[in-house]
Amino acid sequence: MPTQSEKPGEFDVIEACFRPLTKNIPGAFSLTDDAAVFTPPKNKQIVVTKDAMVAGVHFLETDTPENIARKLLRTNLSDIAAMGGVSFGYLLSTAWTNDTDITWIRKFAAGLAADQEEYGVSLLGGDTVRTDGPLTFSLTLMGTLPNGQVLRRNAAKPGDLICVSGTIGDGALGLLVALGELTLSTDQHNEDLNDRYRLPRPRVSLGPNLLGLANACLDVSDGLLADLSHICTQSNVGACVYQHKIPVSSAAQEAVQMDARLWEKIVSGGDDYELLFTVPATQKNLLVKLAERLEMKLTVIGEIIENLHLDYLDQNNNKIIIKTKGWSHF
Ligand SMILES: [Mg+2]
Repeated sequence: MPTQSEKPGEFDVIEACFRPLTKNIPGAFSLTDDAAVFTPPKNKQIVVTKDAMVAGVHFLETDTPENIARKLLRTNLSDIAAMGGVSFGYLLSTAWTNDTDITWIRKFAAGLAADQEEYGVSLLGGDTVRTDGPLTFSLTLMGTLPNGQVLRRNAAKPGDLICVSGTIGDGALGLLVALGELTLSTDQHNEDLNDRYRLPRPRVSLGPNLLGLANACLDVSDGLLADLSHICTQSNVGACVYQHKIPVSSAAQEAVQMDARLWEKIVSGGDDYELLFTVPATQKNLLVKLAERLEMKLTVIGEIIENLHLDYLDQNNNKIIIKTKGWSHF
């Protein structure tokens, strides 16, 4: 992690915060060299992704440094999982502002350390600079995939079942809770949603298990319907999705009972970091077995169709109109 020359003392301290994060990768050379070296495992290909986060845009100023670090890592973990990969290492660029003191940076590094432990990844290297603002981070995550295998968005087929992991909408509703724009009847429900917004749970165990089973896959970050439209566009197919089949948490259930208009937030809000994928209908039994094996909720919410439109339907097969951008081109 090369440092900026103007404030060598300060940047040495920052580097010292991050050095322990490289301990599992000898080729990171404890951040003492100009670059890192690693050997790809036999019969594997490398899958790589990058996400940036800017204060006020991708996280709230009130978020803790630990959580900001973990969210940065987890959004990338979600992208690698969506491709079917297993993550192993990352490069990190940080642009600290004058308000960022060393205590804040230590907490940020502690957040990364906690998630490195949980997800089995290590820091490989990166860069540290100062900026007038806003506070900005960029993380490049690498993973491995078996040679010749990958989950892409472009291979959904008419007749495929559209499936989603976990529950949808908690992240978007959690942002409303965090902003004080939504309050549910119990602290538990408020906390559940808030927590889902602040700390994504990337589906790292599911993605690699979908290789050979799913035709198309992505992680839900823009919003369920917008992300489904990405699959449809790339695969040159359409889709039918049923609102009543979309899995929601008990907190989200309470939210839509209070105000049915919140369904629009659920299907278009984003920040879910669940996997949305399509599976041939003939493989439904394998899907059920996988859900049991991973002890994970996997729900069929609709099917891929030949016609190039995305129908979002109620229980009586009536179309529900959504004004949100992102899928209106269908
Ligand atoms: Mg993604």
